[in-house]
Amino acid sequence: MNIKETKESLVKKGYTVKLCSSKELAFDYLNQTITGKTVGFGGSQTLTELNLRHSLKKNNTVYVPDFPEPDVKPLDTAKLAGGAEVFLLSANAMSAQGDIINLDLIGNRLSGSMWGPQKVYFILGINKVGGTLEEAIFRARHIAGPKNALRLHRKTPCALAVQDKLEKIFLEQQGDKGFNQLDWQTFIQHLSKDELGTHCYDCTSPDRICSSMLIHLRKPRGVEAEVVLIEEIMGF
Ligand code: SF4
Repeated sequence: MNIKETKESLVKKGYTVKLCSSKELAFDYLNQTITGKTVGFGGSQTLTELNLRHSLKKNNTVYVPDFPEPDVKPLDTAKLAGGAEVFLLSANAMSAQGDIINLDLIGNRLSGSMWGPQKVYFILGINKVGGTLEEAIFRARHIAGPKNALRLHRKTPCALAVQDKLEKIFLEQQGDKGFNQLDWQTFIQHLSKDELGTHCYDCTSPDRICSSMLIHLRKPRGVEAEVVLIEEIMGF
């Protein structure tokens, strides 16, 4: 995968593109670029890893459904996020040609990525980019989905199929440190497809985390959209 070719494809699809060699550069760029706006977040581990929600609050009004203000319900925060001027999210996968794929449980992240805001930022690490459209869909459904279910300790078949085995390997690596959620997330994040060893079962579990999938074949017509590509492993 050639990141410069992916950038050219994204530009042809109508996106502005920013390449960042590190998460620190992406953090600085987004904080300098987004000021004086209402800003909504779609659920994203990449955004959490970037820790943008605190820094953006200095110059913007920020709505983060995963971290609502006291006495505000997450769903009410999600509605405010969807009506914000700027919407931030990541992607579960992006093909080498710039097709952007996201899964969602409720749909607030998907809707915010194509209709409503003035500008959308897709912010993603290099680990999610590459392959054909079909391979990117596979990544979203069979790698990102199960990895997120494992990260969140969901009782879904994709997670339960490998949870005991992976936890044993993880705890052996941890030694005396024992279980630590942040280390667990990093462990899951770095597993290859073969090491992960599970797949999506299209389950009916009440713990299911993904009910809809959206593919942006090109930039939605009604919004400005920018892709911030970070040349590091980020998110799932
Ligand atoms: S549909 Fe179920 S089995 Fe498939 S990735 Fe989502 S939670 Fe896992």
